[in-house]
Amino acid sequence: MSTNYSYKNGGGVKTKSLSSYSSGYNKSKPAVTSNLRRNSTGSTANSAAGGHKDAPGVSGRVRVAVRLRPKNSEELSTDADFADCVELQPELKRLKLRRNNWDSDTFEFDEVLTEFASQKRVYEVVAKPVVESVLEGYNGTVMAYGQTGTGKTYTLGKLGDEDTSARGIMVRAMEDIFTEATETDSISVSYIQLYMETIQDLLDPANDNLSIVEDPKSGDITLPGASLIEVKDQQSFVELLRLGEAHRFATNTKLNTESSRSHAILMVHVKKSVSVSGDNVGSKSHINRTIKPPVVRKGKLIVVDLAGSERIDKSGSEGHTLEEAKSINLSLSALGKCINALAENSSHVPVRDSKLTRLLRDSFGGTARTSLVITIGPSPRHRGETSSTIMFGQRAMKVENMLKIKEEFDYKSLARKLDVQVESLIAQHERQQKTYQDEIEKISLEAKKQISQAEKKFADSLEKERLKYQRDCMESIKKLEAQLAVNKLKEESLNKPNEELNEVKKLLQNEIRLRKTAEEEVKNLQNQAVQWKRSEVAGNAEIVKLRKMLEDEIHQREKLEEEISVLQNQLLQLSFDADETRKQLESGDRSVDMTADMGSIISPVRQPQMRYSGEQEKGSVATLFEQVGLQKILSLLEAEDPDVRIHAVKVIANLAAEASNQEKIVEAGGLASLLDLLSSSDDENIHRVAAGAIANLAMNETNQELIMSQGGISLLAMTAQNADNPQTLRMVAGAIANLCGNDKLQLVLRAEGGIKALLSMVRSKHPDVLAQVARGIANFAKCESRASTQGIKSGKSLLIEDGALAWIVKNASNEASPIRRHIELALCHLAQHEVNAKDMISGGALWELVQISRDCSRVDIRILARRTLSSSPSFQVELKRLRLNSG
Ligand code: ADP
Ligand code: MG
Repeated sequence: MSTNYSYKNGGGVKTKSLSSYSSGYNKSKPAVTSNLRRNSTGSTANSAAGGHKDAPGVSGRVRVAVRLRPKNSEELSTDADFADCVELQPELKRLKLRRNNWDSDTFEFDEVLTEFASQKRVYEVVAKPVVESVLEGYNGTVMAYGQTGTGKTYTLGKLGDEDTSARGIMVRAMEDIFTEATETDSISVSYIQLYMETIQDLLDPANDNLSIVEDPKSGDITLPGASLIEVKDQQSFVELLRLGEAHRFATNTKLNTESSRSHAILMVHVKKSVSVSGDNVGSKSHINRTIKPPVVRKGKLIVVDLAGSERIDKSGSEGHTLEEAKSINLSLSALGKCINALAENSSHVPVRDSKLTRLLRDSFGGTARTSLVITIGPSPRHRGETSSTIMFGQRAMKVENMLKIKEEFDYKSLARKLDVQVESLIAQHERQQKTYQDEIEKISLEAKKQISQAEKKFADSLEKERLKYQRDCMESIKKLEAQLAVNKLKEESLNKPNEELNEVKKLLQNEIRLRKTAEEEVKNLQNQAVQWKRSEVAGNAEIVKLRKMLEDEIHQREKLEEEISVLQNQLLQLSFDADETRKQLESGDRSVDMTADMGSIISPVRQPQMRYSGEQEKGSVATLFEQVGLQKILSLLEAEDPDVRIHAVKVIANLAAEASNQEKIVEAGGLASLLDLLSSSDDENIHRVAAGAIANLAMNETNQELIMSQGGISLLAMTAQNADNPQTLRMVAGAIANLCGNDKLQLVLRAEGGIKALLSMVRSKHPDVLAQVARGIANFAKCESRASTQGIKSGKSLLIEDGALAWIVKNASNEASPIRRHIELALCHLAQHEVNAKDMISGGALWELVQISRDCSRVDIRILARRTLSSSPSFQVELKRLRLNSG
């Protein structure tokens, strides 16, 4: 709702501005009157009513709008030549009523509605504010006043079935009420007609003489006989209106009257429950608030379609007597009089003069908000009626009402609510009572159970205790009886003579004596046993002594045997030496170096001689060989005496230097024994001589294979690793160098670490060792070269693979010629194959080869080197790059 209230504090009289209401009217127009007229009966009665809430009253003037009907077809033709009697200035809310062609009176209204004003606009400015007030709990009246045919019914009662835009105020008002109503609100309707001071029920024509009842206390006007029908929706309301219209028409036909002479009054009762705002919340308890009854606002809307305002022809042209005519117009003229009185602030307002004024007592000068629409036609022919209508409206504008809100407490619903509350409280109480009793019952049951259990327990333990005491009692009695019996016996024995006691004493003494004798005997025997043991220990010591002597004897004997063996060996040695000396003396310069030319097999370079201790010669060895026998010599390899052993190895080594002996030595297992010595002996002398012997044997191709198959390479490698003596290393290197010259053994030799072992020995730096290493490398390179030429081998030299190249290059210009020769040859062999070229170039071997080809003292090697260089494309390319001429 758009209504604003502004209250003075605590004031009994309130002023009010109805902004939305006045917004539809001319605000520029000053309030017609400010002095309030109060319907004393109404307001005081209302405030005295017990059930009513005293609502503050607010003043409100009767609002008046004027509506001009458009010309009808008749007027359009008949009045065509005449000017209209009215001229509207809606924007100024003014109406000019023509007095004559040159003069007119001007009137101001709250709203001026032209012939073009829509039904919607008319509703909004005339009725809507009133409807809103009704919904707020005020009484409200909308009425139409005017000459018959100017559009009162059109404005108020048009149903607008075919054209909803034509709907009149009644239909639209009800639409708004339904929109605002909630389900709990109640809307009920009465529809009556007032004609010739009788009230007829338009909803039930049988009620044709209803009486008006005034509540003396509240002053409320009621029509107890009229149908009051509750409507739930717009549809049923429109049906009621239609029904009312039909009845109005039928009644009028029956009474031979015109509807224009009757007043139709629609009364709508709106009961709206108000949600009470929480004004007391906080200070009051929940209970207090719940017992506060709900507030209901009761608004009543009255829509009055007044009878035509035209004066009845006194001639009674319509067939009425003058009295009748008076009666017909009584209500309307009474209304006019009341309005005049109110407008003039007269002390007496003749409300009681007619039924209409009694019914509308609240609408003019009462507590209702009232809106009046006066309807006029444009025709100059009805200027008089139009003028009087305008004057009625002008006077009505001066009427001030005192609005009072109607609220009452809904005690019934409160009582219902409280009943429900009481019932639920009773039920709750009963429920609590029940649970309480149940609880008590449960507890008492439980208590009983516990008591009976306790009793039972008590009885049980009592019985137990009783039995126990009984038992104890019996036992005590038995004990006492037994005691008694014993005591009796004692008593008896005390009475016997002392003889028996004496006898027992004697016996006891005798026993003691016997025991002492036995103890002594035992002591004697123990002593004897000790003596026996002592003599036994002495015997054992003797035995030990004898054993020791025996062992010493054995030891002695063994020693002697050893000595004998040593002596024998010495004898052998002496005879060996003697023989040797003799031979030396005999053969003088014919002596032969026992060491073979080991290089003969492998290399064109002359081999260094393999000398170990170097004092012995072939002849004497051969003699020895013949004299002693190979088997004997080989058996001496295992002799315990190291001297014997080393001599035996030396002999074998010398024998092995001779090709003819080699086969015999190997056949007799000499090679195996020699290899054995490399691993079993710790003596480096033996290692040295044995390696020399193996080196000699390794000159033979068959033996080379045997050495390899018997694990010779790893044994030699091991010996090389452990040896410090350059002579030992020289022997080992010599042996490996010989093996390096075997074409068949190349791969195995390398695989078993032969080349690595060979290269490892350069650590010695002794020229003899280095010469053997160089020889081995040359032998190996030669074999590789041969294999490559034959297509057996492909790929890089294994020497290069095993890292020999660096050492080769480094020693290519070694001062010792044997070393240098071997290396020169090795380089030539390696250079013969392109696969090695890249490594050789990067390793610096190419430069050495160039040196050899230029500076080597041996022509054949120089030529070989030169040939090698010129035949290798890689070398040629590199030489060109270095701008070196190989030629
Ligand atoms: P009243 O009730 O005052 O006797 P009515 O409402 O019966 O007058 O109107 C008389 C005629 O004029 C009706 O035919 C009605 O339809 C027409 N009429 C009245 N007012 C208007 C209007 N504003 N626009 C069009 N027709 C109207
Ligand atoms: Mg009418």
